[in-house]
Amino acid sequence: MSATHASEDGLSALLMPTYAPAPVCFVEGHGSRLIDSEGRSYLDFLSGIAVTSLGHSHPVLAEAVCEQARRLWHVSNLVTNELSPKVAAELDRLVGNGQPAGGRVFFANSGAEANECAIKLARKAGGHNRYEVVSAYNSFHGRTLATLHATGQPEKHEPFQPLPEGFRHVPFGDIAELARVADPTTVAAVLLEPIQGEGGVVPAPAGYLTEVRRLCDERGILLVLDEIQTGLGRTGSWFAFHEEGVLPDVVTVAKSLGNGMPIGACWARREIADVFAPGDHGSTFGGQPLACSAALATLLELQRIDAPSLARAAGERLRNALAALPAISGVRGRGLLLGAVLDADGRHAHRAREAVRSALLAGLVLNAPTADTIRLAPPLIVSEDEVDEAVSILAEVLA
Ligand SMILES: *Cc1c(COP(=O)(O)O)cnc(C)c1O
Repeated sequence: MSATHASEDGLSALLMPTYAPAPVCFVEGHGSRLIDSEGRSYLDFLSGIAVTSLGHSHPVLAEAVCEQARRLWHVSNLVTNELSPKVAAELDRLVGNGQPAGGRVFFANSGAEANECAIKLARKAGGHNRYEVVSAYNSFHGRTLATLHATGQPEKHEPFQPLPEGFRHVPFGDIAELARVADPTTVAAVLLEPIQGEGGVVPAPAGYLTEVRRLCDERGILLVLDEIQTGLGRTGSWFAFHEEGVLPDVVTVAKSLGNGMPIGACWARREIADVFAPGDHGSTFGGQPLACSAALATLLELQRIDAPSLARAAGERLRNALAALPAISGVRGRGLLLGAVLDADGRHAHRAREAVRSALLAGLVLNAPTADTIRLAPPLIVSEDEVDEAVSILAEVLA
């Protein structure tokens, strides 16, 4: 094998082939921009998949992490650290949309682990024989064996059977089908994304979550919302469920929580959280000081700049500009989590991946969660000029 391109053959050859080789290697980033190994500059409209909401190399975050790195990195969860309760308090207040929500938090290292915690919590709260989790087709909840089964994409399950049992799927947005499947004697929880991110940025139909909440209340089933991609301001509110006026029993977050530092969290109403006893769940790294220093600085900074209002304003500008492009037939999503759907009748349908690759070579980082959808998730601090520049690059690529 000849090493014709450093990043495609040389570097990727050492990694398991779980991702397609990429034609660039980024070495530096500032705000909404990335620099590759050849010194070329890019606009980052993916944010590491809705992670770096405050942009790259944010000075406040860098300072917080550096200070903590010089102070204390890790102590294990056998003893308390001073930072994780502070992050939990901020998170609880954001779940309550500015008022303490009165819940408790478990810290993990990723989104999948946050969902694993939610699933274990729901099973223990459900009690014997009441362990099923109902989630939606086209959903994404992670890559561990349990969260893979919760992920409603049967083709992803096949090579890894048998998967842990106790998972069922219903069409997203179909309340009648959920009502048929949600047997209160066997179902512990309903697990949903308010907007299906990996599924192509597909929002729940208006009123669906309210109806799901009512159904869950009637049957004593927990409502778990996976806000790993949507949470912490991206959709224009602190959590997407705030726009629906529902309060879930359990909420999972990760992605943007540490602005790129690996950290995830599972928030639960106090009565539910208190079903766990010492020894029921744990993590060596979860909530450790270094990760929490990043999360605390991130949550404080997101509040200081009123991130949801930034996402709403920039999101509206981006959405309108995208909708005006002839190659784009529709724009889904809210705030700065948008899916631009390529014109299904024209020559663009099913060419989202190609468009994303061309955009990358033209200096714009995007991705294509599905064959006909381009996902745009820029940092929430993106400027109007950067929005306009990104849309003009995309317009050229699609022309
Ligand atoms: C990314 C994502 C996950 C998985 O998070 P990891 O940190 O990759 O484990 C789970 N749910 C949703 C909605 C996500 O977007």
